Amino acid sequence: MRKPKEQRLQGIAISRGIAIGHPFYYTFCEIEERARNILPAQVSIEIGRYQNAVSRTSHDLHQLLDRLILDNVNEGVDILETHLEILHDPSLNTRVKLKIESNLQNAEFVFQEVIHEYQQKFASLNPFFRERFNDIQDVSQRILSYLHEHLRISFSDFPAGSIVFVKDLTASHAAEAEQVNILGFVTELGGITSHAAIVAKAKGIPYVSNISFSDLNLSEIRTVILDGRTGEVILNPTQKTLRMFEELAFKMEEQMRALKLDCSLPVVTLDGHFVELSANIEMVSELDMVHEHGGAGVGLFRSEYMFLPNHSIPSEEEQFVIYRQLVEKMQGLPIVMRAFDIGGDKLMRGSSRHELNPFLGCRAIRFLLKERQIFKSQLRAILRASIYGEVSILFPMVSCLSELMEAKQILREAQEELRVLHRQFKSDIRIGCMVEVPSAAIIADLLACECDFLSIGTNDLVQYALAVDRDNLSLGQLYNPADPSVVRLIKMVIIGASKQNVPVSVCGEVAADPRFIPLLLGLGVRELSVTSRFLPIVKNTVRKTSIVEAEKLAAKALKLSTSKEIQAILDEAYQCAFPEDPLYSYVY
Ligand code: PEP
Ligand code: MG
Repeated sequence: MRKPKEQRLQGIAISRGIAIGHPFYYTFCEIEERARNILPAQVSIEIGRYQNAVSRTSHDLHQLLDRLILDNVNEGVDILETHLEILHDPSLNTRVKLKIESNLQNAEFVFQEVIHEYQQKFASLNPFFRERFNDIQDVSQRILSYLHEHLRISFSDFPAGSIVFVKDLTASHAAEAEQVNILGFVTELGGITSHAAIVAKAKGIPYVSNISFSDLNLSEIRTVILDGRTGEVILNPTQKTLRMFEELAFKMEEQMRALKLDCSLPVVTLDGHFVELSANIEMVSELDMVHEHGGAGVGLFRSEYMFLPNHSIPSEEEQFVIYRQLVEKMQGLPIVMRAFDIGGDKLMRGSSRHELNPFLGCRAIRFLLKERQIFKSQLRAILRASIYGEVSILFPMVSCLSELMEAKQILREAQEELRVLHRQFKSDIRIGCMVEVPSAAIIADLLACECDFLSIGTNDLVQYALAVDRDNLSLGQLYNPADPSVVRLIKMVIIGASKQNVPVSVCGEVAADPRFIPLLLGLGVRELSVTSRFLPIVKNTVRKTSIVEAEKLAAKALKLSTSKEIQAILDEAYQCAFPEDPLYSYVY
């Protein structure tokens, strides 16, 4: 038999890691449901079939939920809770039942029609609501699969060692996947910040998207290598390629184990400069890993993840309970609580706001200054929790000085209200300002006069400096933190803040990129905040960097004119520092 040739495809890396396995091509129940007329006497049978499918789906989701809670995959928990809410949404279920009764048609056809109605409604709304529709679709596929029992296959039933090829991965299927049977995902669609991506990352399952399936002959593919660091997918690898990746995967595991052993070492450069290395967190449960990995504290608590995208904003009392728990679990280490970054792609359920350009609209501090009661009750909750540890408040996406001044005024009002109520709080709480917009970087000196620290959010700074959507994969090449404009903006912030003796931290994804870290240190950054999983890698990178060399690198970068040139010198420096270090060749 003819041996198939090795074929290499380039996709986009979504969740890192290397997977080697067998392809499993999965299509959801995308069959067009046919209308079947039923007799009035059959209405109750069809409604019964529908209810049975709903209750079996509910059983599935509850089981998945229990498993995720057990495994501490909190991001997945939130998503599945949304799915359960959708599943038990009375308006959806009533609509299906009424339509079966009035149209006298079979359950699957009616159900699919109702879902199409939802689809049309959602398609005209902004990206956040379109994302919600993905959740509805995810749930509806499960229901349909129970209405078509013979087509049903669960992700947990996949053969061991599967690399799943699926057009668009849904969050609940990612949640259902177990590493024992599913080693990786390859999709045509799906962005880095999709729910499915969040769950895959949290589970540590490598995932590459943006691979076109149209030219693939899946029956000819025996083995697949998926490189979640670089986005490469290799089909039918030769023995040589296979051996190379097996060795690489083994080496990476060994390295990660070794790095974790060094967690208690100080974060000091080769020439003795101390770097404060903290963690970015979204959930209280992530704190265990922060401690395990020797984080100096939490440099960014994204408070909006507490309720987004599923729930409405908790009351002051509910927030206080969560914040107090967080602060107490810090065991004396500092924590920076960012006020809600609502807006953009993070809208609240039921929000009536509709903006054509939500990322340029009423987002973050702009939203908070409009919704003062929401802002103030969060500030009061944080202030009350501040007596239990070392807490700072961070204002998100400030774009001019007056926003910072107004936010400070509201903070003073919140403090006054607590005083009147004889509530305890720390009156000298530190306040910081996020620098995520070029205008804020340019006036960093003015902002620094009015706060205790600045925090550069490069994820947004790159987006706003280059006018390129951070979630739009098709603009991938343009979204580049190594662009001269971004490097200069970072330097501008450092210079502006140092005039006022105000510390600057970097909390965007680049702070965890071993190729970018020397540049940040060379530009004068001495505080980094990264996802807790990457603390060991970042710590080791800092410990292998010399500030003298980093400053030379930064000086050189500041003189270059294109992102390509800057990227090249960063890569070169990184190759020198980590010549054969696969663990570091992650793509961030
Ligand atoms: C950033 O923009 O870099 C940042 C840290 O904030 P977020 O990713 O939450 O927008
Ligand atoms: Mg941001």
